Amino acid sequence: MTDLAQYTNRQIRLASRPVGRPNASNWQHTSEPVQPPEPGGIVVQNLSLSLDPAMRGWMNEGKSYIAPVAIGDVMRAGGVGRVIASQNPRFAVGDHVSGALGVQEFASIPESAIKAGTPTHIDLKQGTLNQWLNVLGMPGMTGYFGLLDVGQPKPGETVVISGAAGAVGQTVGQLAKIKGCRVIGIAGGKAKCDFVTKDLGFDGCIDYKAGPSAIRDGLKLHAGNGVDVYFDNVGGDILDDVLARLARKARVIICGAVSQYNNTEPVQGPKNYLSLLVNRARMEGIVVFDYADRYPIAVAELAGHLRSGRIKSREHVERGLSTFPTALTKLFTGENFGKLVLQVAEDDGTRIP
Ligand code: NAP
Repeated sequence: MTDLAQYTNRQIRLASRPVGRPNASNWQHTSEPVQPPEPGGIVVQNLSLSLDPAMRGWMNEGKSYIAPVAIGDVMRAGGVGRVIASQNPRFAVGDHVSGALGVQEFASIPESAIKAGTPTHIDLKQGTLNQWLNVLGMPGMTGYFGLLDVGQPKPGETVVISGAAGAVGQTVGQLAKIKGCRVIGIAGGKAKCDFVTKDLGFDGCIDYKAGPSAIRDGLKLHAGNGVDVYFDNVGGDILDDVLARLARKARVIICGAVSQYNNTEPVQGPKNYLSLLVNRARMEGIVVFDYADRYPIAVAELAGHLRSGRIKSREHVERGLSTFPTALTKLFTGENFGKLVLQVAEDDGTRIP
């Protein structure tokens, strides 16, 4: 068993609830010794953490699909790591795992959490550590079940995806192509649009930053017969513009609304919702955790696509725990290009300063 006394666990805790975009004052940097695992528990050295737009919601007070992070608590984060001490027969030292590890360098996981299902083993033959945070992780699961269960795409249909170059968007678009759809992305800037069309094989992409009528003009061009499935990651004006071009019996998947998460005013709701009536369309939300018992099915299929090269993944890696506050904001400025990951230790366990 690793000598835990040699380690200090650096952590980032929620110091205050942000108004608007989070900044340095919302975080407290602390450190404490790494303790041996409790009976039935394990200690994990975190290798890479998943930075997600949802973190902004977890910083708010109030009811949601998950409890807010309490002031003073280590910030919640998914992550991948390696077991370095175990008092649990299901986990051996050296095992790679994925789960709710928190924004810190080491996670002490009690037996109760293990019984509740976190962390789980990951197999690095199926994908890299970073792919386990992306296509094989929470964003991939969201894309898989959101598109297939809620969107129910049929071959030949036109599928439009906002946040197309991001973590969820990449998987959705490539899966929709595999299902025989015409796939149009919406992303910020030429580089991201080139990525989704040239590297990921989307049929078209609309750069929403190209001008005030970019989405409307782009949809006229790429979705002249209407949008059958809209996978919405951003909300706001883009949602309204796509609603205005729905096809009959369209499905709109409300996955997220990243354009609204830092609002200081109430969330902007859709003005064009009557398009649902006119087009006999429906709009439905998805919360990925509802599908937890079916993750293994999705992982097996997506890992197969990664192996065959039919699905590619792109991650944007930031390094070092202390960069967390600035790294997180990249999700809201569009500076991340691919799934945003914070690597806190090298794969061999060497800590990143
Ligand atoms: P991501 O797309 O990798 O990163 C966020 C991207 O959002 C940015 O790169 C940026 O891309 C775009 N963006 C930021 N501000 C924007 C704005 N004002 N208008 C338009 N686009 C903006 O993030 P992700 O992890 O894949 O998450 C995508 C969405 O899925 C989020 O809304 C997230 O909350 C949601 N989600 C939901 C679930 C669920 O269970 N419902 C699970 C996971 C994720 P551009 O450069 O293209 O602007």
